[in-house]
Amino acid sequence: MSPFRSYMDLALAEARAAALRGEVPVGAVVVAPGGQVVAQAGNRTRELNDPTAHAEVLAIRAACAVAGGERLPGHDLYVTLEPCPMCAGAISAARIARLYYGAADPKSGGVAQGPRVFAHPQCHHVPEVYDGIGAAEAAALLTGFFSGRR
Ligand SMILES: [Zn+2]
Repeated sequence: MSPFRSYMDLALAEARAAALRGEVPVGAVVVAPGGQVVAQAGNRTRELNDPTAHAEVLAIRAACAVAGGERLPGHDLYVTLEPCPMCAGAISAARIARLYYGAADPKSGGVAQGPRVFAHPQCHHVPEVYDGIGAAEAAALLTGFFSGRR
């Protein structure tokens, strides 16, 4: 199993755990330059009554606490769904080196569509972006979650 695959599998496990909590199933993992997982999180917007408690934001907060700083140079972020504009902004502010994401998000994504945050001239730090990793599983989780709620 490649490291890319296993980190995304960890993010998918966080997404599944989020679904079990009644949250939109999105999971994120932050990996330090040495390859160790320093943070992993799933969505907790409902549990925390916090619209900013997206998986990426929670994982970045936890990783910054570990790093003891507001930036995460050299760190990678794995997330099961294309980040929204808010999370893309946080990823840039944290100076994440590489972003790996799974499913595209035509409704709320802000990386490859919508505001395309990283392509904006005001974006001061642009990570390398790799999409489509584990996309089928991530999309199936979301589809299952939303169909189960009707
Ligand atoms: Zn977000």
